[in-house]
Amino acid sequence: MANLTPAMIDLPFPLPRFDPGWVWLAGAGPGDPGLLTLNAVNALGQADVVVYDALVSRDVLSLARPGAALEFAGKRGGRPSPKQRDISLRLVALARAGERVLRLKGGDPFVFGRGGEEALALVEAGIPFRILPGVTAGIGGLAYAGIPATHRDTNHTVTFITGHNASGLVPDDGLDWQAIARGSPVLVLYMAIKHLAPITDRLLAAGRRAEEPLAVVSRASLPDQRVLETTLGSAAVDLAEAGIEPPAVVVLGEVVRLRAGLDWLGALAGRVLDADPLGRTARGEAV
Ligand code: SAH
Repeated sequence: MANLTPAMIDLPFPLPRFDPGWVWLAGAGPGDPGLLTLNAVNALGQADVVVYDALVSRDVLSLARPGAALEFAGKRGGRPSPKQRDISLRLVALARAGERVLRLKGGDPFVFGRGGEEALALVEAGIPFRILPGVTAGIGGLAYAGIPATHRDTNHTVTFITGHNASGLVPDDGLDWQAIARGSPVLVLYMAIKHLAPITDRLLAAGRRAEEPLAVVSRASLPDQRVLETTLGSAAVDLAEAGIEPPAVVVLGEVVRLRAGLDWLGALAGRVLDADPLGRTARGEAV
């Protein structure tokens, strides 16, 4: 049974009141409802209408106030979205009708989520709004695979990349693959499953090593999460063989090795963790 529902939240500090005619643009995290923020739960408990996208899980939606209208406004499969303008207009129309409108997106609304575009449409229309950040898949999703986005011994930089542009193609126009390959030891790619082969080709051509570790984390934080551990050189073939489906995040870099030590979900299922996943003891270094 649920231990916590929005109606049960009685906190020793105030959370914002949702006034009619406002739009709250919120992130729902990668899927596990436990990754919702208090602000998002508070919003679900007050919204009249929840306009949600395809990556928002059913469990998350089940926290909406009884009687709230749930409207699907998703985009699927990374296809270009001719509907984006319609979604923005819908938010404006609902707010003008005096509804408390919760626009709920997967992950964080401002990370490859078009939250900025929707918020600007609200500004243009003079609609008051609030942004409720969420746990993004490229950080929280990796953590569910036991892969930290940064680790002192592997990387001081991490780069988030989208695997396709507004036309659904590998974003060659806006991306300097050479600079990215050289400049960032860890790359986290969103929406990259469909184009993984051309993306890995570009990174190899730009000088990244074929044996560099790469992981694909699919449906991160959900009960059917899957993780493929491979290398940059084998990723495209292994991905096709594993039959992994989107949504998935791809992470490239030495940081992937830490999973051998930090796969806490695997440990729950009996995996024995390696306390020295980077092999520092073997190289005679102090740990
Ligand atoms: N705003 C979202 C990203 C939206 S773009 C966020 O901050 O997470 C959609 C992409 O997000 C997917 O193609 C995938 O790369 C990633 N993604 C979202 N949810 C995911 C999940 N549960 N597991 C793995 N990847 C996910």
